[in-house]
Amino acid sequence: MSGLAQIPPAPSVRPLQALLIKPAGPDCNLACRYCFYLQKAALFPDSKRHRMSNPVLEATIRQALESGSPMVNFGWQGGEPTLMGLDFFRRAVQLQQSLSFPGQQVANGLQTNGLLLDENWAAFLRDHRFLVGLSLDGPAHIHNHYRRTAGDADCYPRVIRAARMLRTAGVQTNALTVIHDYSVRFPEEIYDFHRSEGLRWMQFIPCLEPDPAAPGRPAAFSAPPWAYGEFLCRVFDRWIADFRDGWPRTSVRWFDSLFHTYVGQPAPECTLLPECGVYVVVEHNGDVYSCDFYVESRWRLGNVLEGDLLDMLNSTCQREFGRIKAALPRECADCPWLDHCRGGCPKDRQFTPSAGGTNYFCESYRLFFEHADARLRAADWRRRQAASPVGGATTTSPARPRRKRVHRR
Ligand code: SF4
Ligand code: SF4
Repeated sequence: MSGLAQIPPAPSVRPLQALLIKPAGPDCNLACRYCFYLQKAALFPDSKRHRMSNPVLEATIRQALESGSPMVNFGWQGGEPTLMGLDFFRRAVQLQQSLSFPGQQVANGLQTNGLLLDENWAAFLRDHRFLVGLSLDGPAHIHNHYRRTAGDADCYPRVIRAARMLRTAGVQTNALTVIHDYSVRFPEEIYDFHRSEGLRWMQFIPCLEPDPAAPGRPAAFSAPPWAYGEFLCRVFDRWIADFRDGWPRTSVRWFDSLFHTYVGQPAPECTLLPECGVYVVVEHNGDVYSCDFYVESRWRLGNVLEGDLLDMLNSTCQREFGRIKAALPRECADCPWLDHCRGGCPKDRQFTPSAGGTNYFCESYRLFFEHADARLRAADWRRRQAASPVGGATTTSPARPRRKRVHRR
């Protein structure tokens, strides 16, 4: 292992700018084959039903806003957060309005499978400017492949109905698309499908989970590294071909995030940062953890009913967690793409211990950078960005209506 990275010193007190909240814990009304979070129910054996109480909700919002950060992003996810019902979110917004200080910006994001959304939800989400991340893996044959009900039924018709309803209502919606061993074969079809549905903001999440029968190995549904690299290259070409007058017409989150690294700005995506630990996760019972992928006792930072979120974010445990990412394997030290890739997410390093912990998707990233680097460096983009009225590298995305948003890894 090598501590080669030139990491700028962390601020003495890291501000609390983002938190993920799981109000229904791991509970979900689907049973997607690749879901890593359903099994977290084992952490909370006292109850089969997990729901956030009012005291936990209030303590979470109060502490987040009283941390003093001028902007706080609340990401509501799960499990399936809409199981809480709309009144829970009405209470959350009321608390945010009453507890924020003048000038403080509050952003909300809702990650959902869409099954419970109706017109009342859509109106609420639009009126309160939530950014919705809708889990939609593509057209029916791709979406239904692993996204199934507990009774093994398709869910595509209900999800696409939700997507169209959100669009009609004017709700800002991202398509969250898991790339697994099947969907990885259809980059153009998925991109074009999202475009045709008016989903111009896309986030592709490569699937990698341990095989339950052999935990040191990736599960069969994981995206093969070479195939995922090919997927990224082909989506990149589609995205570039979609430009008009030098500007993108869709946003692909990983490309947008990478662009920041090309103009010397910190990436909004944690996988591209030198260290982890920039946000916290709050479970339904108030327990706080280091990261969505590390909701486990080793990385439990405390509970909002007993401690303070800002202290937990700045705790020794969270700092230690953050440094794991910076301890890069030898391959990264010699890699020309290190300044952009930063070794990827540490959870993806556990499958290659024999290679010194190199990221499982390293081959994907190398393929992509060799394919896209010259275009990502394109000088006219940089000039345009420098001349941007919003002042510097904020996004390569098409102009969005002004809105509040929350980011996700
Ligand atoms: S890079 Fe991975 S481990 Fe680190 S904070 Fe992000 S999701 Fe968590
Ligand atoms: S491409 Fe591979 S070797 Fe290079 S920084 Fe990323 S993970 Fe490390």
